[in-house]
Amino acid sequence: PRGLGCAAASTGRRSYGNIGPRMAEITLENLTKVYPDGTRAVKQLDLEVEDGEFVVFVGPSGCGKTTALRMVAGLEPITEGLVKIGGQVVNNLPPKNRDIAMVFQNYALYPHMSAFKNMAFGLKLRKVPRPEISTRVGDAAKVLGLEGVLPKRPRTLSGGQRQRVAMGRAIVREPKAFLMDEPLSNLDAKLRVGVRASLSELHRRLGVTTVYVTHDQTEAMTLGDRVAVMREGRILQTDRPQKLYEEPKDLFVAAFIGSPAMNLVQARIDGDEIVFGQYRVPLDPVRRPDRASGEIILGIRPESFEDAAFAPAEQGTIEVIVTVLEELGADAHVFFRVDARQVTAEALEGKEDATLIADSTALFSARVDPRTRARVGEPIRLAVDPSRFHFFDPETGASLLTERRPAAVAMAGR
Ligand code: ATP
Repeated sequence: PRGLGCAAASTGRRSYGNIGPRMAEITLENLTKVYPDGTRAVKQLDLEVEDGEFVVFVGPSGCGKTTALRMVAGLEPITEGLVKIGGQVVNNLPPKNRDIAMVFQNYALYPHMSAFKNMAFGLKLRKVPRPEISTRVGDAAKVLGLEGVLPKRPRTLSGGQRQRVAMGRAIVREPKAFLMDEPLSNLDAKLRVGVRASLSELHRRLGVTTVYVTHDQTEAMTLGDRVAVMREGRILQTDRPQKLYEEPKDLFVAAFIGSPAMNLVQARIDGDEIVFGQYRVPLDPVRRPDRASGEIILGIRPESFEDAAFAPAEQGTIEVIVTVLEELGADAHVFFRVDARQVTAEALEGKEDATLIADSTALFSARVDPRTRARVGEPIRLAVDPSRFHFFDPETGASLLTERRPAAVAMAGR
């Protein structure tokens, strides 16, 4: 039904009591979208979402995530390439025949219907027998923790409950796959965390293939089995969240994933040392860039620093002047200036040919022990761990990290 925020159809099938996996891998091959006005919104996406997998598309506004999802749903004509669901090419299949259910940001429940009726509505339209509707809605309500509120109208539900009703509406269809577009973005921050957790649990219980779109990297990292980071219509990297975090293959991925963000500055390799701003730090013998000299972009995650007072004595240190101190209880963030040009995700969100580097001195953040004695305006020693540095090519943004084999290290150490 129009305005419901759902696009799916499934014919009467087994009841909800026996939730079980139904084969539905989703494959994108060379998927491309050019809008009639010439906008190239999606460029040659290749992706395999395995049966039962939860994959998140994440990227800044306008990177093409929604367009990609809408092509999978059948709501947007495909310019080039293929979408397969369960091995079948669905390019020319209308949405209702794709056996998928969508959950959007604007879930638009019918205000005059109870939560139960909102969830049952699509099934009723499809003439699913009444007892089966009851069973399916009842089971979905149980999964979603909505049992107590089924008789209530949307207006009398909390935002989180309303969003769960919208999800319930998708679940009762028992689709092969869920497609979700920013389903949590209408919720306030606290609610979002709660609904996010129930969404995770739901996925674990139902095991339904899910493609989820968000601009929020925390959502992506917490929900996704794998995360595809998009920029300007392309997928830059698809990986497990921890791998994306630890081994970003690209400068943009490095800048986008992680909060506070990775510190990224222009730096210079000088033999076995790296120079950035006023600092010169020995490189780790194993984890280092694939070149012995020249300009690169250095990346240091905030947690690769520590207040030297709380770090192992053998770690190298730098002295910094504290510009800002944020005490967060569980840890503290120390901000300090580095006299070098900074790369930010915002700078990277510009046009494809825009310079990667913002023309300003860098403001670094360090995540340190909350017992730190750091005081604004005063110097402090920070231990820094070069074995966790990242390196990127300033021209292409590609990671320059190589892991030298131990034998080579032994040679280098002589
Ligand atoms: P957001 O998070 O802001 O929704 P997104 O990553 O989902 O962004 P899309 O909505 O897929 O991005 O849009 C990708 C690009 O395609 C943008 O440049 C957008 O302006 C453009 N675009 C979207 N819809 C159309 C349309 N109907 N006609 C022309 N261009 C469009």
